[in-house]
Amino acid sequence: MNINEIIEMDKKYYMNTFGNRTPVCFQYGKGINLWDTEGNKYYDFLAGIAVSSLGHAHPALVKAISEQAEKLIHCSSLYYIESQAKLAKMLVENSCADRVFFANSGAEANEGAIKLARIYFKKSGTPEKYEIITLKKSFHGRTLTTVAATGQEKYQKPYMPITPGFKHVRLNDMEALKNEIGSVTCAIMMELIQGESGINPAEMEYVQGVRKLCDENGLLLIFDEIQTGMGRTGKLFGYENYAVEPDIFTLAKGLAGGVPIGALCAKAHAAQAFEPGDHGSTFGGNPLACAAGLAVLETIIKEDLIGNAAVMGNYFHSRLETLARKYNLIEEIRGMGLMIGIQLVEEKAVEIRNRLFESGFLAGSVGSYVVRILPPLIISRPDIDLFIDALEKTLKDII
Ligand SMILES: *Cc1c(COP(=O)(O)O)cnc(C)c1O
Repeated sequence: MNINEIIEMDKKYYMNTFGNRTPVCFQYGKGINLWDTEGNKYYDFLAGIAVSSLGHAHPALVKAISEQAEKLIHCSSLYYIESQAKLAKMLVENSCADRVFFANSGAEANEGAIKLARIYFKKSGTPEKYEIITLKKSFHGRTLTTVAATGQEKYQKPYMPITPGFKHVRLNDMEALKNEIGSVTCAIMMELIQGESGINPAEMEYVQGVRKLCDENGLLLIFDEIQTGMGRTGKLFGYENYAVEPDIFTLAKGLAGGVPIGALCAKAHAAQAFEPGDHGSTFGGNPLACAAGLAVLETIIKEDLIGNAAVMGNYFHSRLETLARKYNLIEEIRGMGLMIGIQLVEEKAVEIRNRLFESGFLAGSVGSYVVRILPPLIISRPDIDLFIDALEKTLKDII
């Protein structure tokens, strides 16, 4: 089918939650490149929103998925699953967590984290504690509970009443956080870099202060690492940048390189609150998704893609900083590693994104003022140079 036929069919049959999408349909990819139905080639600097961590069609991931699909895709967690146990072991050995539970998406992993925090207090003799403090401008998912956790009204309003038990405070405002902690508070949940609201990093002192506050008040600390995890920030997990360990953290996006998966990871004291029957999932932790996750994590470690994300991230930031000094349209460059936001002084983010697309480069935008870049972790210096040239040409064209 050509692109117009596909668009026409989509408009007729698919629910219109995405509005007018970028008018392209990709057919296949290799590394950082994608090709569309009309044979055009693109450079993917968005990686399906931080998902395609190994780029496209990475041989190790293709092999793992194909071999597992030939053997067994699903059997249910009523039985023991080798790739599930192996991926859990590898995550535990490489993180501060002691136990893992697999879901199918980020929102589901966060639902698990919220349930775990609540049940932990139910079982430790303080059942009155249920409230979770999260941050304004955060994003934690689209289920009724995770939109309640999300600190953005636009996701909540159309669905009232949403799950009770959440309060929102401003990022990097320690006093505001202290003021909200009360007798029913059970946990604080946050992203280390707010991705969906424009790449807003939490400050070092803030994150360390939050950990201290949780310790002093007996609260659980939950990091939503769905976007910051799996090497994205130049460390395997974002919390490593802050020298702080959470009690619970969640993963999804980059974990299986595009195969749907979510992970709820917790230290032993928190994890033990889940006992037989307390939580579950039909698809979660299936042989296929876990084989894919295992291949991604093994490749990230074997090919030192964490180191690559750090080095390429620094290079990318420095090239963008140079552009920022040259073009007044750019106010600042934010982020860590390969999670980058370009803050503009004018409402030109969508135009820049669209012009980059016209020149064959995929990037994202958040609102009207932020261009968002989330390339695959396999990115190389020449790829970045090409992107910078395209961006500079775009900047020249629009000012
Ligand atoms: C994408 C994202 C989610 C939601 O993940 P889904 O797989 O879309 O449910 C939650 N939290 C953060 C920080 C995210 O970036």
